[in-house]
Amino acid sequence: MTTADVTPFPNFIRHLIAEDLKANKNEGRVVTRFPPEPNGYLHIGHAKSICLNFGIAAENGGICNLRFDDTNPTKEEVEYVESIKADVRWLGFDWGDRLFFASDYFGQLYQYAEQLTQAGKAYVCSLSPEEIREYRGTLTEPGRDSPYRGRPVAENLDLFRRMRAGEFPDEAHVLRAKIDMASPNLNLRDPVLYRILHAEHHRTGDQWCIYPMYDYAHPLSDALEGITHSICTLEFEDHRPLYDWILDELPVPCHPQQIEFARLNLSYTVMSKRKLLKLVNEGQVRSWDDPRMPTISGMRRRGYPPEAIRNFCERIGVGRRENIVDLALLEYCVREDLNKHAPRVMGVLRPLRVVIDNYPEGRVEELEAVNNPEDPAAGTRKVPFSRVLYLEREDFLEDPPKKFFRLAPGREVRLRYAYFIKCVGVVKDEQTGEVVELRCTYDPETRGGYAPDGRQVKATLHWVSAAHALKAEVRLYDRLFLKPNPGEAGDADFKTYFNPHSLQTLKSCRVEPSLAGAAPGSVYQFERQGYFCVDAADSKDGALIFNRTVTLRDPWAKILQAEKK
Ligand code: ATP
Ligand code: MG
Repeated sequence: MTTADVTPFPNFIRHLIAEDLKANKNEGRVVTRFPPEPNGYLHIGHAKSICLNFGIAAENGGICNLRFDDTNPTKEEVEYVESIKADVRWLGFDWGDRLFFASDYFGQLYQYAEQLTQAGKAYVCSLSPEEIREYRGTLTEPGRDSPYRGRPVAENLDLFRRMRAGEFPDEAHVLRAKIDMASPNLNLRDPVLYRILHAEHHRTGDQWCIYPMYDYAHPLSDALEGITHSICTLEFEDHRPLYDWILDELPVPCHPQQIEFARLNLSYTVMSKRKLLKLVNEGQVRSWDDPRMPTISGMRRRGYPPEAIRNFCERIGVGRRENIVDLALLEYCVREDLNKHAPRVMGVLRPLRVVIDNYPEGRVEELEAVNNPEDPAAGTRKVPFSRVLYLEREDFLEDPPKKFFRLAPGREVRLRYAYFIKCVGVVKDEQTGEVVELRCTYDPETRGGYAPDGRQVKATLHWVSAAHALKAEVRLYDRLFLKPNPGEAGDADFKTYFNPHSLQTLKSCRVEPSLAGAAPGSVYQFERQGYFCVDAADSKDGALIFNRTVTLRDPWAKILQAEKK
């Protein structure tokens, strides 16, 4: 297991499983599953569920299955199945040979449904979907029995078999459990178990024209796989009596225990696959793996390490109360990991040309730069220095306010790994007045960054040599939504608060030459700027594209603090 880097915190599920093991329940076995519906890409909420299910199994010498809940053929696609497998693997988990599909069990599920019908526990109902809804009642009013509830067993069986044989159009009939139309729990008011759907399934083709409902297929799939602990999110708490009813009424191999926990909600983003699909389809983002997306593939493309995501999932804990986790915590985990592992380089996002007047033309020095101060084993590299450099435009102000210690006319600063330089002239565009070039001098005595006479400077700036630097595109990302809880606009208009500046593209950045041939997906710290990842899809040799993974510090935290004052 690759999760040894994460310290497990106690939580109620770990506690409960420890108790079960102590009591030798399930003969000491722990079998869990992660059951995604292949109707979209996985998001960070799913990562929480994956870490929990695979983590708890691994900690207890158990196993965790990957099972696709593919009971809804109209919304499910092979593309999603493949992306989900890739994401789970990338997160560091292994389902071994236990890759399952609910559709593997369609034959068995059908047999069970006939058994329920035979036992008088299920009936064929011929109300329309609207009528079924109407008859169901509300939270305050009991439901009414369907006029078909009293159908004799033989007729139910005959109709159910003919539903399967394809004799009826969609929605003509459904198979319903016969439980209690007056139950205070709406899920027990004769829930639908099977519906007619003349639709091609991505695995079973046109073999079936009736499909089981999730609430029916799920407990049975769990039981057929010998799951001991069926861990799911809180919204299924009210479904648990139905989960148990189905398993109690049928001769299943075991009766797994359903345990619910609070789903992860993250600020400044949305998490439902339906909403994420909308962002993709309507072009707000480029794709499911757009680095702004809270999807696992988006985070991978943005440069988040899987260790950081696992660590985050452990830190947020597992409880039974809904809350919204601050995106800043996820970013903190990302920084913490990258700080240890990402090599340092110099990159200038908004270049300003600087000429060192007293530095000989044509001369190039190879200066030694530290690859990672957190990791001495990472060693050093050479960075070329020459007469014409690029500095960060925002590191110069012609008329600096009091607390601005960086470059200004007449002022001396240190160039990282290089020399002290002093600004002696400012060249402007005659038309616009914009600063287009700085003239500086350097002090040859300060090589390495220290003055023999002990004089100090207040700033150290990053730079690149103009003749040697590589041109690069850098994509800066900001939060996807402007509000911590974009859902508060109401379900329909969650896009009202879409952040129009969530992507900013800088086309003429310059990075140090050591980045030539940088591997797609690799992450670097651009000194003083943040962490940047070589875009795995669009970056090419000779046309580098970087995604900003995360800034060095959180500018939003500062803004919020300032607002509080
Ligand atoms: P969504 O509402 O985002 O479409 P879902 O619950 O429909 O999610 P599934 O594919 O059914 O998606 O989810 C697979 C598993 O992941 C389920 O066990 C579900 O409970 C869990 N899960 C989904 N969203 C979250 C979340 N935000 N936090 C924790 N677990 C989640
Ligand atoms: Mg679902």
